Amino acid sequence: MFRNWNIEKKTKDILEDSLDSPISNEDAIYLMEVKGLDINALILAADLVRKNIVGDKVTFLKNWNINFTNICTSTCGFCAFKRNKEDKDAFFLSIDELADIAKKAYDNGAKEFCIQGGLHENVDVYFYEDILKKVKEVCPDVHIHAFSPMELYYGSKKAELSLEESLKILKNAGLGTTPGTAAEILNDDVRKIICPTKLNTEEWKEVITTIHENGIKTTATMMYGHVESSKNRVEHLDIIREIQKETDGFTEFVPLTFMYKKAPIFLKGKSNPGTSGTEDLKVYAISRLMFHNDLKNIQTSWVKLGFKFSQVCLLAGANDLGGTLGEENISKSAGAEYGSKTEVNNLKQLIENIGRIPALRDTLYENIDII
Ligand code: SF4
Repeated sequence: MFRNWNIEKKTKDILEDSLDSPISNEDAIYLMEVKGLDINALILAADLVRKNIVGDKVTFLKNWNINFTNICTSTCGFCAFKRNKEDKDAFFLSIDELADIAKKAYDNGAKEFCIQGGLHENVDVYFYEDILKKVKEVCPDVHIHAFSPMELYYGSKKAELSLEESLKILKNAGLGTTPGTAAEILNDDVRKIICPTKLNTEEWKEVITTIHENGIKTTATMMYGHVESSKNRVEHLDIIREIQKETDGFTEFVPLTFMYKKAPIFLKGKSNPGTSGTEDLKVYAISRLMFHNDLKNIQTSWVKLGFKFSQVCLLAGANDLGGTLGEENISKSAGAEYGSKTEVNNLKQLIENIGRIPALRDTLYENIDII
């Protein structure tokens, strides 16, 4: 395939092999640094692998984000969403207020709610249980995708329950799946800089594996472009693929490019100003070449990257556009400029414009309907 391309021999060899089987960490680190036409070849290889594995459908769903509080006791250096309780724009929704938002979204066609919030001192697993019960009461057949590994860990400790006990309670109350956030970059040297009070790498792995083992699927994420190296990114991707081989618990991988403009670590001069466009494309392409059949769905975030660039990411290995989103506070707080909601027709057009097939899906990618 790449025999006649005027690119480095090593790139050629790796990409030829990548069409049939996942690339090694060493090769992925090499590909993170390629330049010029080698980048085009990498993107094409990822697109071919994408086509073989998931075909030409590009999926998304009708979802709605609900953040119940921005008050948080943690101190993540990349986070522009967190507030202290005395801040004038701090909020903490009551369960009835949250249910009103959910009902409105449900009446507008939302099929999934993504519910997350800060680590508030009054929040624990029983509070999460009350949220789930109330939302299920007003929106019975909605899928609830809620509470990150960090929130589950925090909420369990506050309730003096084991994680297993908490998961049982939450599942019974209607928890469907969980966001695989709080992963950031799974390397403790990086975490000491960007999120020193969060779960460390081993703890995150332990929590996510326990969630999977208790029958709850999660997404997988990577927030990149702050202080980490290419090697850190590849090692993170490798951790995700190893967990997936063990549990098969991830539904999708979502690369999250660092929104730097309002991030405390950037404002203090302690991080990079995010990534360049080709770095983003390489992350998508290399993820596809590392995951192959192990983790088939790779999502591009239009909220963070914009509609135009997300469309380009669909040509570099991605096959999912996330959701229409009725509300999105976290990226918005961090300076995302691309709005917080869109319409089905807008995403449909983006997909058709590159000759692919738009399809609506559910959270678990079990029902996929061409539109
Ligand atoms: S990322 Fe989450 S845990 Fe960290 S400060 Fe922000 S709201 Fe709190």
